[in-house]
Amino acid sequence: MNLPDRSMDVSRRAMLTGTLGAGALLTLGDRPSALGAVSGTGARSVAVPITSCATWGAKPPTEPVRLTSPLQQLIVHHTATPNSTDYSQKHAFAFARSVQQSHFARDWIDTGQHLTISRGGHVLEGRHRTLESLATRTQFPLGAHCTDMNPVAFGIENEGTYSEVLPPAALWKRLVETCAFVCSTYRVDPKIIVGHRDHQSTDCPGEQLYKKLPALRSSVRTSMAARPWGRVSPGDVSPNVRAAQLLLRQTGRSVPVDGGYDSAMTSVVKSYQGAKGMFFVDGIIGAGTWESGLTPTLRTGSTARDAVRAAQTMLTARGHRTTISGTFDDATSRAVKAFQSSRSLTADAVIGLDTWSRLLA
Ligand SMILES: [Zn+2]
Repeated sequence: MNLPDRSMDVSRRAMLTGTLGAGALLTLGDRPSALGAVSGTGARSVAVPITSCATWGAKPPTEPVRLTSPLQQLIVHHTATPNSTDYSQKHAFAFARSVQQSHFARDWIDTGQHLTISRGGHVLEGRHRTLESLATRTQFPLGAHCTDMNPVAFGIENEGTYSEVLPPAALWKRLVETCAFVCSTYRVDPKIIVGHRDHQSTDCPGEQLYKKLPALRSSVRTSMAARPWGRVSPGDVSPNVRAAQLLLRQTGRSVPVDGGYDSAMTSVVKSYQGAKGMFFVDGIIGAGTWESGLTPTLRTGSTARDAVRAAQTMLTARGHRTTISGTFDDATSRAVKAFQSSRSLTADAVIGLDTWSRLLA
């Protein structure tokens, strides 16, 4: 999008009170993937913090925001505004307000795009109802960012001008994560990621960023397929449930360790998800929940005994038998290395997210 210069007349209005929350941590990877999901776009690990309109101080839309579907294009824009070196959240919020004001000035009912990413890597809701509609996994707000395409196109605006320079690393990283999040949420293939100029006569998203779109699609695809977490759901009876129970105990929660996912455990998991501010509080443990801090990094000498028991439980279940002692001893270290080798991971005996995700796949 090419915004008029006034978009940088940053509002001096104080941030609204009661808006200090970081916004929802959206972890939609936990939902069961729908039938017919595009290959490689199922329930994978994707989570990105997005600040809601209410939090950054958006004005209400001037008319009700309607929802539309299906999502067929993910369009990347740049705001064609100066490349600010203020990477703060405060700047991001003020920038979002200035963009909304400039779009009101065009007689649009609200911010045109669905999400905005600041040069500091802050992701903000653009058009109202974007966060709310993500939960439908099919609908999204009818926006105003690409003429004729709006009924089927989700728009992401990147703060700055990328005709001659590339975005800063923080923005690029968030753009990859955000695109992966949108693609996995709507179960669409990253090949639908295009630039504004693919549809209209415009420089947007800038020559340099445009040339990176193949790399973006590739990185998004990698991001979506990175970790093959399994899912644990109410009613399950498995070693994975037992591991989940041990990991919940490690967080200080009281839950029996019996390998059976009953209604009491559902309450504990929902409580955990609520405490983590997760978008879905549904008792289903998938990528988002596993990666929310439930699977701590373990290595020789780790004192997180229940978490070590969980790892030993899964190592044993995967054929690398270890004593389930809660002590990360030499035998455990050897079992971890053997498991890592069998999964083509670096055999360093450190259980981080990559190893956890394969243990719990
Ligand atoms: Zn554009």
